[in-house]
Amino acid sequence: MTNSDCWVPIPENSDFSIHNIPFGIFSISDERKRVGVAIGTQVLDLAVAAKAGVFDDLTLDHGIFTSEYLNSFIELGKATTSKVRHIIQEELLNESSVLRNLDTLLISQEKAHMHIPVFIRDYTDFYSSIEHATNVGTMFRDPAKALLPNWKHLPVGYHGRASSIMVSGHDVHRPMGQTIPPNSEQPIYGPSKRVDFELEMGFIIGKKTSLGETLNTDQAEEYIFGKVLLNDWSARDVQKWEYVPLGPFLAKSFASHISPWVVTMEALAPFQVEGPKQEPKVLPYLEYSGKKNYDIKLQVAIQPENEEETIVCNSNFKYMYWNMAQQLTHHTMNGCNVNIGDMMASGTISGKSEDSYGSMLELAWAGSKPLKMNDGSERKFIEDNDTVTMRGFCEKDGIRIGFGEVKAKILAAK
Ligand code: MN
Repeated sequence: MTNSDCWVPIPENSDFSIHNIPFGIFSISDERKRVGVAIGTQVLDLAVAAKAGVFDDLTLDHGIFTSEYLNSFIELGKATTSKVRHIIQEELLNESSVLRNLDTLLISQEKAHMHIPVFIRDYTDFYSSIEHATNVGTMFRDPAKALLPNWKHLPVGYHGRASSIMVSGHDVHRPMGQTIPPNSEQPIYGPSKRVDFELEMGFIIGKKTSLGETLNTDQAEEYIFGKVLLNDWSARDVQKWEYVPLGPFLAKSFASHISPWVVTMEALAPFQVEGPKQEPKVLPYLEYSGKKNYDIKLQVAIQPENEEETIVCNSNFKYMYWNMAQQLTHHTMNGCNVNIGDMMASGTISGKSEDSYGSMLELAWAGSKPLKMNDGSERKFIEDNDTVTMRGFCEKDGIRIGFGEVKAKILAAK
């Protein structure tokens, strides 16, 4: 199976190769939302494909492809959704496919309007990069004791806010907040002065658990449908003042963005790699076997208004200390149930080198080492009208699959 065998042209280095086939929700002008897959520079309309009969053997309710969210599609289960993926792949490789004659099957991605792919009822954000947790602990606490005592024993996380997760392209205003000026005991109210991005990846729950049910690390990946890029916007000055003792609150809930295409775990499987050694040994319920990390190259760019972008970070999802199977196992260990469409984010993905840190807080070291932009300006944090873009892809043996991008502009405070 190669891109050149596909009858839809796939540009070299496309994230949306024949090996990917990610799912998303799109519309054209004001028409209804529907389910599509990305291929090359096109969106393939699954509702149109279903009408042509290609899924007839699966006895699907075709209404699933005109849903506003992927949740009901995901609920069919991986046995069915992976067949849908394979059928699309086969049809795209088949010179005499019935799909070739349908004028409305393919829509240019430039013309398609992308929507949030899943209805997200609950959102959890972990804190699973050892480099990120060490950097933050070094900056704000004691470099000798950068990691708190629990960090290597459990995947630390908090419950975030699902209502303000948006799809790529929706700009946000700089949040207002309460902060404490340096050397003062009196807080002030005003626009955050330290708006930051967090380079993260989210995974989407593909199978629900019942209240009281617990998962183990061998089962957990079966409960994950796929992944997206996630920018967990953070107001660092608000966070610093408000987070004690219950953790992040309004510093994080003003906005998070995800990429529109959900890349399936099946597409990601060839890119599994060994995770880092976990020392001290974790408790038995968190032990795992096999390759549970993923080699996904990640990049962040900042584009000042009307200027070219500057790449500020090159990281990789494989650096994660805690893997998704451990995160989800830990999440369910008290019997808390998860639902289809729930979003679980990795936490900021930082690598070892200074140019692989996944936030401005670390890249500019709390403002002490401003970053040079290509236009000559400097950044300690994100300024008004800066656009932040995150990209991610996997590449091995000439095969590439990717996530496209998640992009948003910070507008002035309202
Ligand atoms: Mn985060």
